[in-house]
Amino acid sequence: MIEIQSLGRDYVRGATLTVLDNVSFSIADNEFVSITGPSGSGKSTLLGLLAGLDRPTRGSVSIEGQNLNQLDEASLSRFRGSRIGFVFQNFQLVPTLTALENVSLPLKLQGLADADSRARSLLERVGLSDRSDHYPTQLSGGEMQRVAIARATVISPSILFADEPTGNLDSASGDNIISLLLEQRSRCTVVLVTHNPELAALADREIRLKDGMVEEIVSHRGGGRSAKGKNSSKAGSKKAAKKRNSPSASKGSSKVTRSRQSVARKGSRR
Ligand code: ADP
Ligand code: MG
Repeated sequence: MIEIQSLGRDYVRGATLTVLDNVSFSIADNEFVSITGPSGSGKSTLLGLLAGLDRPTRGSVSIEGQNLNQLDEASLSRFRGSRIGFVFQNFQLVPTLTALENVSLPLKLQGLADADSRARSLLERVGLSDRSDHYPTQLSGGEMQRVAIARATVISPSILFADEPTGNLDSASGDNIISLLLEQRSRCTVVLVTHNPELAALADREIRLKDGMVEEIVSHRGGGRSAKGKNSSKAGSKKAAKKRNSPSASKGSSKVTRSRQSVARKGSRR
C-alpha cells in the first residue's frame, strides 16, 4: 500500500514555484494506477516523490507503512534497491555497461551471487537474449526500453513505476513495452505515467493531475469511466459540478466513491 498525504513540492529558483500541492490518495497492493495530465502538471515530480527519488516539501509518502521522510539517504537507497523498480522515458541505462551488466547491476549492488543468471533470464523474458553483450548505443530505442524494464523488474519489486515509458518509441516498440508492463500487473503494484488515454484506461484507476493538483480520480474497474473523486480547488467549480451531474457520471457502471479529501471538502462547504 502506498499512502500519499497532503503531498507538496516547491522548487525555489529565485521565486518559489509550487509544482505539486495538497495531493492525497492511496494505492492498494497490486493495484494498477495510471497518472495523466497535461505536460508540466507535475506527473514526473509526483512519480519521483512516490519512488523516493526526490523529497517532498510538504506532506508524506508511506510505502508498506514506512514513511519515506523518516529514512536517511542510505536507508532510502536500500529501500528503493529492494522494493522499487523505475522505468524512465529516456531509459537511463548506464552507457558504459552492456545490456546484461545494466540488468544485473541492481542485484550486484545487493551482493547477490546469482546476479548474472537472473539478469540473463530477465533479458530472455523481454526477448533480448541475443543482445546481452550490446552496449546501449548499439540498441534501438525499443530495445533500450526493454533492457530498462528488465533492469527495473530484476529485483522483483513490490512497486513498478514507469514515467511515459513509450514516449520516445514508435508505436510497434511502444506496444511491445506496454505488453511487458501489463505482464507485471499480476506481480506487483504498477504506477504508470502516460499521455495515452487508451493505456491510461487499462489501469484500475486513473489519477488526473492539473496544475500540480489531483483534478479527478477515475475508476476504470468494471469498464465505466465515472468520476471517482476530486480533491483539487476545481472540486467546486462549475465544470466539476457539471461533470458530477452528467448522465455518464451518475449512471456509470463502475463504483463511485469520492476520495476522503474530496468528501471532507464537500462536507466543509455544507
Ligand atoms: P510533467 O511530468 O507533468 O510534464 P513535471 O513534474 O516534470 O511535469 O514538472 C512540473 C513543473 O515543475 C514544470 O513546470 C517544471 O518546469 C517544473 N520543474 C520540474 N523539475 C524542476 C526542477 N528541478 N527545478 C525547477 N522546476 C522544475
Ligand atoms: Mg514528465
